[in-house]
Amino acid sequence: MSDQNDVRELIIIGGGPAGYTAALYAARADLEPLVIEGFQWGGQLMITSDVENYPGYADGVMGPEMMSDFRRQAERFGSQFITDDVTKVDFSERPFRVWVGDDEYSARAVIVATGASARWLGIESEQQHRGRGVSTCATCDGAFFREKEVYVVGGGDSAFEEALFLTKFASRVHLVHRRDEFRASKIMVDRAEQNEKLDFVLNAVVEEIVGDVKVEALRLRNTVTDETWEVPADGVFVAIGHDPNTSLVVDQLDHDAAGYLITKPGTTETNVPGIFAAGDVQDHTYRQAITAAGSGCMSALDAERYLAAVEGHPGTAMTAPRPEAAEV
Ligand code: NAP
Repeated sequence: MSDQNDVRELIIIGGGPAGYTAALYAARADLEPLVIEGFQWGGQLMITSDVENYPGYADGVMGPEMMSDFRRQAERFGSQFITDDVTKVDFSERPFRVWVGDDEYSARAVIVATGASARWLGIESEQQHRGRGVSTCATCDGAFFREKEVYVVGGGDSAFEEALFLTKFASRVHLVHRRDEFRASKIMVDRAEQNEKLDFVLNAVVEEIVGDVKVEALRLRNTVTDETWEVPADGVFVAIGHDPNTSLVVDQLDHDAAGYLITKPGTTETNVPGIFAAGDVQDHTYRQAITAAGSGCMSALDAERYLAAVEGHPGTAMTAPRPEAAEV
């Protein structure tokens, strides 16, 4: 087992479905991966309640339980974990270097699987009330709003999931959306329409969150007429999408205008050979646990092939040449 000063085969940055799946495959390929999983490991699924659409869990599963399962499975085959945040990386030289505070780790290949984080509205009063009535996580904070009046902002599946979850606690849930059409899937919209505690405020945005210490009201603006009005409110849940967690690597790896890492189509290879990207950090389209896990698997296979071809790692039975190079 390697210690901190050794050059490892593989470091995986991130402990969500992509990172743990990469670790599982890499560990089974004898790459002894070091997973720097983040202080808050588990990623976005740790703040999700029921996951009903991950194949294999026929009766659904709680997000945190699923992440524990992923982690245990990766651990079973020898993955090592550091439960802390990476603070710096240097991908300009080989071996690649990764820091956690003052501790430096190096590896011949790195998989970046740092995921994405919830987006905020960006208004001043939101930051003022953050954690005091303004949240991006109904699963975490919903129970504080028993018999209260809450607003959820957004028109995608996240907003509907949050709104439906909040109906378990709140006296009334209003979903505010800036258009009159939803991005959310039909099944979620149907469920919301059938829920008596939930209603929609369409063509509207939150302009200001009003209140001294706690949230007391919201100033809304109609996006068609520009009319503004105030409504009483005890809480606001912001569910308007996510941004990729790329601040660590943004000046070292190619990314698109929104910050998502760019991978070579059909692979998880970034513009730096030996650095791979998996999961939501490189996927603004699908962003599902299952697709993140799938690309985590791909990244481990890509890293294994890279290490075998370029770095001379013996590889395993799993290591096969890329289809284009194979005689098929
Ligand atoms: P999303 O689909 O990108 O939806 C974001 C919503 O927020 C959109 O309706 C958008 O409005 C609105 N929005 C964005 N910026 C805004 C702003 N500044 N002010 C007001 N509204 C704003 O994001 P998501 O809901 O987080 O879903 C992301 C992915 O995860 C999707 O693929 C979704 O299917 C998936 N997901 C699935 C489940 C599930 O299956 N159980 C649960 C959660 C998420 P516009 O529509 O006008 O752009």
